[in-house]
Amino acid sequence: MNDKIIAITAPSGSGKTTLVKRLLAACPQLSFSVSACTRTPRIGEINGKDYYFYSPEAFQELIKQDAFIEWEMVYTGKYYGTLKSELQRIWDENKTPLVDIDVKGALAIHEQYPNNCISIFIEAPSIDELRKRLAARGTETLNSIEERVTKAKEELTYATHFDHIVINENLETATNELINIVMGYIG
Ligand code: 5GP
Repeated sequence: MNDKIIAITAPSGSGKTTLVKRLLAACPQLSFSVSACTRTPRIGEINGKDYYFYSPEAFQELIKQDAFIEWEMVYTGKYYGTLKSELQRIWDENKTPLVDIDVKGALAIHEQYPNNCISIFIEAPSIDELRKRLAARGTETLNSIEERVTKAKEELTYATHFDHIVINENLETATNELINIVMGYIG
């Protein structure tokens, strides 16, 4: 019976996507838990692989049906949530879901699964570095960058509530640290 969960949180621009890709490649026992969301897909994003993209109305309907473990309005008017069916799908494959989620979502999942969940916070070396990385990514407007930086500052204040903190200053070091934490937990 494999019913563990790994919850990873990181401010937008902290390098989480790369770290998560590397972690998934190194640990075949893990499976990425695809969240539902209402934001517009970015170029290259695939429905069912990166997110399940829903209209706000369809998302509200899922809330009504109690389909989520947790859901959150992460950015203004943009909903994100972890579907119960998604975690079950992964457990049924005898794998461990890797949930990539914001601070509140991670803490909510940890609260619901206190004995079988670890939470990991990925931190950028500094807010300046974070802003630089977001700008370099070229996918966000100036407003969106500032909203993400503001959220990152707020999220940082919750870092100590997490089981582990990984600072992504050097990608190789952070990747190894992350793999060690996860392998130590799922064996
Ligand atoms: P992005 O729009 O850059 O893909 O993601 C924005 C934020 O939404 C990230 O911080 C990500 O962790 C968070 N997020 C993604 N999926 C979920 C989810 O299912 N629940 C919650 N609460 N946050 C999520």
